[in-house]
Amino acid sequence: MPLSEREISNRIVRVLAKHNISTLAELLTYKKRDIGDLPGIGPGALEDLAKLVNKQGLKFAPDPYEGYNCFRHGTPYWDSKNRLFFLCKECFPVFSAALNNKKPTYKLPPIKGTCNQCNRHLENVKPFWWVLCEICDRVANSIGRGVEAQNYVKSRAITSLKLITRFKKISVENIQVPILNKFEENKQKSNSSPDLMIKENDEILFYIEVKTGQSSIGKTSIGTNMNRFQLDHQDIDDIRSCITRFKKPVFIFHVQCITRIDGPTNRHEPVDCWWATTSSLSDNYIESKTRPREKKIAAYFDISAFKSMDVLDEYLKSNDWKSWVKECEQGKSPKIYKLPKIK
Ligand SMILES: [Zn+2]
Ligand SMILES: [Zn+2]
Repeated sequence: MPLSEREISNRIVRVLAKHNISTLAELLTYKKRDIGDLPGIGPGALEDLAKLVNKQGLKFAPDPYEGYNCFRHGTPYWDSKNRLFFLCKECFPVFSAALNNKKPTYKLPPIKGTCNQCNRHLENVKPFWWVLCEICDRVANSIGRGVEAQNYVKSRAITSLKLITRFKKISVENIQVPILNKFEENKQKSNSSPDLMIKENDEILFYIEVKTGQSSIGKTSIGTNMNRFQLDHQDIDDIRSCITRFKKPVFIFHVQCITRIDGPTNRHEPVDCWWATTSSLSDNYIESKTRPREKKIAAYFDISAFKSMDVLDEYLKSNDWKSWVKECEQGKSPKIYKLPKIK
């Protein structure tokens, strides 16, 4: 069947005809990359042709320099390559499901070390290799840090809150424990919840959204100092929507988690944490920018938005706290960022 009778635009058909390509069979003698190099074939046209080829269950000519399929994205990227993860028995199935149940490209017998997902030091963690792009590799490697940061905030929050006589029967519950998610699930995150819920008996006092990174806020002799705190607009929208839905305050905690070597593995170790309120963030908002290499817009804040743990109890006795609680009860949550001007 000639290409002119298939579902592609006349313009593409004409461009290909100039290069003596008028049937699907002729098209498939080329590498996808070579078709993309033809004058008049842009990325959109190439995608239309790739769709047509895929739909027929066919393939372009083999290309030894093709980008590898990222197991999590399911599409090829130039920076996809073998990436190593150490996983315990419980975390392997979760990780594997997020990678569309693709078989590891390689594995070795278990060793003693830290699991990439639960950050536990165990007698048996198995080395696995999967093909991932740079972005997915970064996401996958940040899970253990998120888990450890939550555990840390949990214990620090309990210790600080117990100092306040009013909060005697305090408990902290995890609402969302970080795990590696499938790529699609990440995209359509709607009714999200904060990470931790702080309760006294059965009454919910407030929620905590936990963020983590290598750098510290304020003076420290460990690691480097943070210049500006960065939070995706999506995360901010989620936090504000939680406040209006649950009618309770949501604190933002930053945990400094550094990396320690554990045999052939790496372990995340929390060293300190700081807290911010939505109004302290809004008071310290600087600007919003698109993150490099990504489509997401992030808001940047002066680090003065955050305070140390030893003043949390003081804040929880203050009038500022009382008025925040009241504002939340009324379902109010003021704006935190401005939308960047479109250039
Ligand atoms: Zn694990
Ligand atoms: Zn990927």
